[in-house]
Amino acid sequence: MIRDIVIVGGGTAGWMAATYLNRVFGDRVAVTVVESDRVPTIGVGEATFSTIRHFFDRLGLAEHEWMPHCSASYKLAIRYQDWRAKGEHFYHPFERLPDVAGFNLADWWLYLDGDVSRFDERCLVIPALCEARRSPRSFDGRLLGEYTEDGRAQFPYAYHFDAALLARFLTTFGVERGVRHVLDDVLSVEQNDRGWIDHLVTARHGVVTGDLFIDCTGFRGLLINQTLGEPFESFEDVLPNNRAVALRVPEDMGLRGVEPYTTATAAPAGWIWTIPLYGRIGTGYVYSDEFCDPAEAEATLRAFAAPDSPDLEANHIRMRIGRNRRSWVRNCVAIGLSSGFVEPLESTGIFFIQHAIEQLVRDFPDAHWDQALADDYNRRVAEVIDGVREFLVLHYLAAGRDDTPYWKAAKTRAVPDGLAGRMRTWASLLPDESSVYPHFHGFDTYSWRVMLIGLGGWSTRPRPALALADADAARAVFADIPRRARRLAATLPDCHDYLAALHTGR
Ligand code: FAD
Repeated sequence: MIRDIVIVGGGTAGWMAATYLNRVFGDRVAVTVVESDRVPTIGVGEATFSTIRHFFDRLGLAEHEWMPHCSASYKLAIRYQDWRAKGEHFYHPFERLPDVAGFNLADWWLYLDGDVSRFDERCLVIPALCEARRSPRSFDGRLLGEYTEDGRAQFPYAYHFDAALLARFLTTFGVERGVRHVLDDVLSVEQNDRGWIDHLVTARHGVVTGDLFIDCTGFRGLLINQTLGEPFESFEDVLPNNRAVALRVPEDMGLRGVEPYTTATAAPAGWIWTIPLYGRIGTGYVYSDEFCDPAEAEATLRAFAAPDSPDLEANHIRMRIGRNRRSWVRNCVAIGLSSGFVEPLESTGIFFIQHAIEQLVRDFPDAHWDQALADDYNRRVAEVIDGVREFLVLHYLAAGRDDTPYWKAAKTRAVPDGLAGRMRTWASLLPDESSVYPHFHGFDTYSWRVMLIGLGGWSTRPRPALALADADAARAVFADIPRRARRLAATLPDCHDYLAALHTGR
């Protein structure tokens, strides 16, 4: 059996992997994290997917146990501001579009309404809760009133948190449960004569040996790329944003209030994220250096997010966009930024980490190192990242904006194989289960529909059959949505009030 796992890197990826593997395998497998106290973590990463709750569930952590340690808040949706046109917005919420009388509600909306500026509020309940800044839970802990977890419903929220604080929290959590923590620099990675990793040489703790080595060293890819030479396949031909500049803006959230959503605001050469944590705003400009230089990007971000705080320190980041050809090579598995990354537009970085860890557990090898396990892992990790790549390319292709060279170029750039054909189909038929990217990639079909319609630059026609169908049931659903939204907004607490109680233990 594999008894000894060595993780290099103590960022979000390293500590999520360490605590999860420790939880699953208990003391049957030793887990060591070797983390440099000299090389900083990436220092960003704040918005997540709704499936992240499974990670905390697996660790046995309730919200009140971890959220106060991580400045955490709730995320019901992403608000896309100015993507369709300046001054316009729509929400991409954690909420599926129901089927009514054999057709999807989005199809009915196309036929009965078609006014893009009202699509989200007409078809979905969560946008109204975002506008009203509601918490997804009542003070008695109930979830969105009527939500039932029957496996078919989309869980209605994710979290915003400070990923660096989460890594620190998980360090304590993991060490208390037996994870060995080595605070040291890895100076070299030594291979045996078959090319497998044999041991690490550290600056102060000598040699560290193990059976399986997990590379969580971030964009450096110290083990997978620098040592084993696995090629990294760039996505910059289709997703050109390769830089970001970030600010942490302290705020009195009691005065300001907390929006329960991430905002992605289209900017001249990219987009700006606004993430309200409990205690500060995380914000950053993601852009392409082909269209904007770092000084200009920083000036744009400061003017947008913190015009009165010129002393805030800006974190400039060069992003490696793409993925390793394989993320598991011999006895090394890369997880996190060392494996693959796409720009944070749909908050997928931590989702990739969670998916990779869960897949590694399913494909965990024994001393035979059956290649079929590694192949399965590599295929699934690649499918997830490639699917998200397609989904993000859709964001640019379907955006109504074309007012700067950056947004104009987005309409003529290469697109991944497969997406071009799908987009042509979607001019006549909205995306459905059989026409979206065919492998698991974390996004449900409704997300493709919401984005294709909300972005406003890709027109699509109603299904002709609807002209012959009875629309009464659909009309009743459309009439009920604002009523449900009003009822929920009236009963759910203000998001800041709920978080204040959670964070102070009241
Ligand atoms: P890092 O944080 O870079 O950690 C690397 C670790 O390796 C550090 O501990 C370092 O000390 C260690 N290390 C390096 N070299 C050595 C050595 N020689 N010896 C020992 N240790 C070493 N994800 C989301 O889910 N949502 C978001 O909103 C989001 N926003 C993002 C915005 C930007 C601009 C970027 C770039 C990323 C964003 N991400 C987001 C991704 C997210 O930040 C990362 O996926 C996550 O933080 C994991 O990073 P990591 O642990 O892989 O790498």
